[in-house]
Amino acid sequence: MKAVVTGLTAAFALAGSSIAAPAPAGPAPAPFSATGPVAITTPTAAIAGMQIKQVTKNVYMVVGQGGNSTVHVSLDGVILVDTKNAGTAIYNDLIGRIRWATVKPVRTVVVTHQHGDHSGNIGLFTAQNIPVITHSGLLQGQQRTNVPASNWPNKTYDGGRYPIIGTGGHIEAIAYHFTPGHTGGDTVVYFPDDKVVSVGDMLTSGTPNVDSPQGGTAKGIRDSIGEVLKLDFDWAIPGHGDNPMTKAEVQAYKQKWDTFISRGQAAVKSGVTKDKLMASIKTDDLGWNVNTPIWNNPQRIDALYAEFSQ
Ligand SMILES: [Zn+2]
Repeated sequence: MKAVVTGLTAAFALAGSSIAAPAPAGPAPAPFSATGPVAITTPTAAIAGMQIKQVTKNVYMVVGQGGNSTVHVSLDGVILVDTKNAGTAIYNDLIGRIRWATVKPVRTVVVTHQHGDHSGNIGLFTAQNIPVITHSGLLQGQQRTNVPASNWPNKTYDGGRYPIIGTGGHIEAIAYHFTPGHTGGDTVVYFPDDKVVSVGDMLTSGTPNVDSPQGGTAKGIRDSIGEVLKLDFDWAIPGHGDNPMTKAEVQAYKQKWDTFISRGQAAVKSGVTKDKLMASIKTDDLGWNVNTPIWNNPQRIDALYAEFSQ
């Protein structure tokens, strides 16, 4: 959930040329259970804190070393969502864990948003001519924050929907951009065959984050999660958090946003000043701690105050 991509240039410069697919790394994934992947538990410590977990028959999540990655396996190869923190060692570790799921190569990468803990290794995939697909807002955000061109995506889409097609014209995945939310260039990736949706940082097990300097809005997150809930899914993979979430858990999370926004609107209506805004909104019952520098950054407070005024 890094707000700024500081240090990316330096980290990326360290990334060497060693990008050959390594052997499987770390422990085997926790097994898939037909009765529900929420029972997935943490196995033994993994190299560099990374770990792969099976979510459904064909979908895995990889936690650690940045935001969660989603791995979708089909006859056509792997669709990977999000690339973790920058660095060849992390890249190699990620690919090594994907090898537990399949020997098939990564054929397409989708990145949910511009933050370096999700977009860090885009350049290691584009260097191999693997398509890396993002919303155009992600690229604009990278350019705004001076991310080097070597880590830009090689395919962007505009509008609300971009299907990823497999053999025989089958739709393997659909990238959706509903509205600016966590950032201005958010993508949600839906895997219809598996009824799994990879949501990025608009969904998290911890305190969420509205990166308003990069185009994010609280109401946008609420509305995008509302759109996610219209999809037919069993499991949602959050941007951060160790386990997939059920639809009921995503519904509960959406309700937290409804509550948070209505409390913020009530606070502004009651005449609270900007400097007291965050302290005046009750969030302990939501399990969120907004008493942090990120939430109280003056630029973000200005944007939230404006949102809550409407
Ligand atoms: Zn983020």
